Amino acid sequence: MLFLFGLRSKAKVIGQLERTCSKCAKPTVQSAIETQRWFTVFFIPLIPIGGSYAIRCNLCGLTVKGSPEIKKQLAAPKAMAAGA
Ligand SMILES: [Zn+2]
Repeated sequence: MLFLFGLRSKAKVIGQLERTCSKCAKPTVQSAIETQRWFTVFFIPLIPIGGSYAIRCNLCGLTVKGSPEIKKQLAAPKAMAAGA
């Protein structure tokens, strides 16, 4: 019997947040990206094996490693400036 094992990463944008970009040197809108790794059998993702987070600047594309903290930041109620 042949088993096909593998690893697969799935990246998805989980939200947008405003942070100061180190390259742009000003606050920019950045995408929070969650990458979930899966252990696959016959190409079917079965077991999640940890994830990682990254934040990408929408302006310059600089991607930095994020922490699970960003998920909390996204969940926090936003003080959005209305209008304009
Ligand atoms: Zn930037």
